Amino acid sequence: MTSQPGRHFLQIPGPTNVPDQVLRAISAPTIDHRGPDFASLTTELLTSLKPVFGTSGPVVVFPGSGTGAWEAALVNTLSTGDRVLHVETGHFATLWQRMAAGLGLYVDFVPGDWRHGVSPEAVAERLTADSARTIKAVCVVHNETSTGVTSRVSEIRQAMDATGHPALLLVDTISSLGSIDYRHDEWGVDVTVAGSQKGLMLPPGLGFNAVSEKALAASRTARLRKSYWDWQPIIEANRRGFFPYTPATNLLYGLAEALRMLEAEGLPAVFARHDRHAAATRTAVRGWGLEVLCVDDREHSSSLTAVLMPDDQDADKVREIILERFDMSLGAGLGKLAGRVFRIGHLGHFNDLTLAGTLAGVQMGLQLAGVRIDPNGLTAALDVLRSE
Ligand code: PLP
Repeated sequence: MTSQPGRHFLQIPGPTNVPDQVLRAISAPTIDHRGPDFASLTTELLTSLKPVFGTSGPVVVFPGSGTGAWEAALVNTLSTGDRVLHVETGHFATLWQRMAAGLGLYVDFVPGDWRHGVSPEAVAERLTADSARTIKAVCVVHNETSTGVTSRVSEIRQAMDATGHPALLLVDTISSLGSIDYRHDEWGVDVTVAGSQKGLMLPPGLGFNAVSEKALAASRTARLRKSYWDWQPIIEANRRGFFPYTPATNLLYGLAEALRMLEAEGLPAVFARHDRHAAATRTAVRGWGLEVLCVDDREHSSSLTAVLMPDDQDADKVREIILERFDMSLGAGLGKLAGRVFRIGHLGHFNDLTLAGTLAGVQMGLQLAGVRIDPNGLTAALDVLRSE
């Protein structure tokens, strides 16, 4: 590993840059997780997490990655042989349905082109056709991190309601929570899955499930095997301010600090900041003469932009040059998009000049890689940042 002066630019769509004050909070001495100080930390945290999810119900916090939180959502609400509906929005939707199949669920996987979000109409169609009500859950990735496409969760819920079908709605917000407007209760979501390492500005290591009344009721009869991920003992211990096993104490210190930062900025301002940076990024990409992967204007992600390369260009080569020359990491194309796209993360602890530096690095990297671009792309993006 080469060492370069100045800060590394970590502009992948998560893990994101961790603010200094969060790092400082994490470095405090570890305390007894069965002592009274810990109980007040848990109680404060579990309360201040709720507005970020837009819920008044329980939020379960696991030491684990987002993948673990996916598993928790499935094993707590479903039984072997249940049918679940997933939609192929990209790499992460594909992985989640694979996990569901591996756990013994029957998966209906609605095919997609990795350039669109979930079609509410397609979900409604599948549910309407399911007259025997065998589909027990619809699983949606809110912000598909592999493509930069955000699905319209409230419209999906409305489409589900219009069919009168009782399926649960499970939503992955791993790369949207704390960055893109999201409302667990108002949108009628049953389980919201999240992780610490993106909009929450923490290192990797925490997974979350926000849980509706209906999902809690389902968890009482769900028969998939579970132990570590079981919500019941955690919710029970949380009532007294504790966890049934050793929690990630220092990450919880960081979480408390990150939540204070989000609260101080105000969630509407946080979302507007992400929207604005995403719009400026798209202006740069289009100004360069390149294509944004997302094709529906209603579905552009505000936390990342996936840039489609011309057919004769290798996106990984551009990323490699940018890493070597400018010490900036960009997201790779995942799954079938490998080599075809690179992804610019513009989420979390991020401001106008972070974006200006990021886009400058991308523009120079594209030029060094010999990609034919219009260098006015960067100026056009700076105009957006200056004018709003
Ligand atoms: N879902 C989405 C949308 C993601 O972006 C990721 C990771 O980037 C995951 C799931 C998996 O999370 P983890 O890598 O923390 O297990």
